[in-house]
Amino acid sequence: MSVWSDLPGQTAVVEQLNRAAAAERPNHAWLFTGPPGSGRSNAARSFAAALLCEQPDPAARGCGECHACHTVLGGTNADVSAMVTENVSFTIREVRDWVTKAQDKPSSGRWRVIIIEDADRMAERTTNVLLKAIEEPPPRTIWLLCAPSPADVLVTIRSRCRPVGLRIPPVGDVAELLVRRDGATPELAEFAARVSQSHIGVARRLAADEDARSRRDTIVRLPLRLRGVSDAVMAAGELVEISNADAAAASEQRNAAEREALLYSLGAPEKGTLPPAMRSQLKQLEDEQKRRAKRSVSDSLDRVMIDLTTFYRDVLALQLGASSDLVNEYLRPELTSYAEQSTPEKTLERLDAIAQTRKRLSTNVAPVLAMEAMAVGLL
Ligand SMILES: [Zn+2]
Repeated sequence: MSVWSDLPGQTAVVEQLNRAAAAERPNHAWLFTGPPGSGRSNAARSFAAALLCEQPDPAARGCGECHACHTVLGGTNADVSAMVTENVSFTIREVRDWVTKAQDKPSSGRWRVIIIEDADRMAERTTNVLLKAIEEPPPRTIWLLCAPSPADVLVTIRSRCRPVGLRIPPVGDVAELLVRRDGATPELAEFAARVSQSHIGVARRLAADEDARSRRDTIVRLPLRLRGVSDAVMAAGELVEISNADAAAASEQRNAAEREALLYSLGAPEKGTLPPAMRSQLKQLEDEQKRRAKRSVSDSLDRVMIDLTTFYRDVLALQLGASSDLVNEYLRPELTSYAEQSTPEKTLERLDAIAQTRKRLSTNVAPVLAMEAMAVGLL
């Protein structure tokens, strides 16, 4: 066991980070990039653990056993701060807060590490505040930024960071992780890793939650039921409903846990009304959760589109006679007969209709309207 064991299929990255963690003076800013679900924020956190690891031999850092490794991975180490925004983008105030935090000396470890997940969710003006801090770093602070690709971060920031590029992990490696860490059966793990296209987070949820699997199945079978405009309109409504249900399921558990943790930390009475001061703290949390719910809905709408795309990709592969495995291998008979009744040109048009809709959804269009237009385009 080491801090790297939950990072499937990233041998080159692990070697690079291991070397850096053993160095006397590692680079003070790093940019972790990789497609969603490839594990870039996990990689950043593991690196933070290795940087603070207490092993006396530098080459053994990242042991996964010592107190520092445990607390960093568990998110409770005082020298590591992870910045996440649940909003569409970071506010300038949030960024100023981190810059202030970055000035502090580490409390017990060798370094103060600041992890910024979604460094791409930052307006240019906000980025400039961060840039200053990265240009003139306090001597014991290390910044770890995460983004989907280097192009998502301003070149001024990018040029000051050492790049760490994660690849899409192989299906087999993701499946192995689900078996080892989550106790999934090998068959289910393989299925979840394949249909999620190696997105580790999505694969975990599919492997663990039967409802999530059944929602995905409804999505990918939907094209099989589209016959006319009225089917399309109905399908659109259904897709929006499914993505809402998916977002709600994901939020529900997390919100309840957060509420419980907050009440516990406030020392709230088990029964009766809360004192006003506690009520206002709780209200703050609930507002935050509402804001987050918005982002969670748009994320899961996008996921619906990705799942739908896999149907047509598979159809296209069959029409072009590609011999590779299908993403939805379990639907091969249905996909084959669908492929025979259409042409590659038509399939490309349909893929385009989905791609256009993903773009429209990232603006402020009403989801139902966008989905209806798309579903009609799929006929
Ligand atoms: Zn350690």
